[in-house]
Amino acid sequence: MISRVSSLALLLSFACGSVSAQGTNPLLLPSVAKNLRHIDQCLQSGNLDEARAYVSMTLFERSVRYSLVEDEDGVGNEAVKRWESILGGTVVFEETPRNCADLVMRFEPAVDAIGHDVFGMAHCRRQVTRWSSGTYTYSQTGFLEVATHAPNGTLLNRETKLQAAMHELGHYLGLDDTPVVGELMGPVDMERPVVWPSWNELSALSDLRAQASLMASQARL
Ligand SMILES: [Zn+2]
Repeated sequence: MISRVSSLALLLSFACGSVSAQGTNPLLLPSVAKNLRHIDQCLQSGNLDEARAYVSMTLFERSVRYSLVEDEDGVGNEAVKRWESILGGTVVFEETPRNCADLVMRFEPAVDAIGHDVFGMAHCRRQVTRWSSGTYTYSQTGFLEVATHAPNGTLLNRETKLQAAMHELGHYLGLDDTPVVGELMGPVDMERPVVWPSWNELSALSDLRAQASLMASQARL
């Protein structure tokens, strides 16, 4: 989690809820990198069904059912479509009623992170469950909050909200925060919002998918 305001008035930050663990790529959430290592451990121990579930989760093999709340100017929908396009359709998003959604993005006047206003917050949970029958299922749920107003109460412009929405979706997809201003997952410069992931950020997600796919193919999952 990053605090709200830096010493420069224009630089605000995001916050995210992530599981703490050592990751192999600093641009990925530690929990996501940990899942990748777990796939390897499952393969080493011959637990192919569990490995298969973790691979499916890592690759988002099932459509992401999402719902937008208070998305009055379409920023949330634009952010979803941008990510879908950036990822070349390898992750499919499908809008559904909220009660069926894995992912909910809600726009609200202010987002609080432990007493500090932030531009956005992601609460994500990735889980593989082993049932008594011995089968495995997975779920990836996310509740993303995006602010519509700056801490001083002024309405945020569309591009700033778009960075916030893209940033929080980046967490859902597996990216971690970076301190680099000018990157999607970095703090916001309200005069220069960033609405596309950087080459490094995209590479981190691509490498994650490539590694999961390679492990699956080598194990003939
Ligand atoms: Zn963040």
